[in-house]
Amino acid sequence: MDSPPAKTASPETMVTIMEFSPTGKPTGLRSVDRIIDDPSWKSRLSPQAYSVTRRHATDPPFSVAGYDSKEPGLYRCLCCGTVLFSSEAKFDSGTGWPSFTSPLAKENLATREDLSYGMRRIEVLCARCDAHMGHLFPDGPPPTGLRYCINMSALDFVPFPKNSPSKDPQQ
Ligand SMILES: [Zn+2]
Repeated sequence: MDSPPAKTASPETMVTIMEFSPTGKPTGLRSVDRIIDDPSWKSRLSPQAYSVTRRHATDPPFSVAGYDSKEPGLYRCLCCGTVLFSSEAKFDSGTGWPSFTSPLAKENLATREDLSYGMRRIEVLCARCDAHMGHLFPDGPPPTGLRYCINMSALDFVPFPKNSPSKDPQQ
């Protein structure tokens, strides 16, 4: 018997991510398509955002508006919209890059060893679309002691809704 066309998810094409309400509450794990390439990235992203997320470039420090913002909200992957960080884990590292002590959900971030530039670093990527986000260092403040050093131009900041903190509109 020939194997039927794959209707079910295969591990290579699907990824399980945590979804969040606009107020940052987890609403459940969901299996979604992995996004390997999206033709809209080239046209939709700024040249800098494109080279950071898709070509592993780095924002010049202190250069991208919002890196030091303290406004409450969620930080999503600019490429695919996956929620990655919350303002609640953001801290001022003094580096000129937005820094977080933890991701909002560990499922939503991927890490891998990065040996470029003669350094041994841990690269942080969006788990869904493989966008380069930045690097992870073990010199952060409590409670985790970790510093997720992220490129602002790879992030899409969405402020928490001002009122109605509880109910999310179903879309
Ligand atoms: Zn993404």
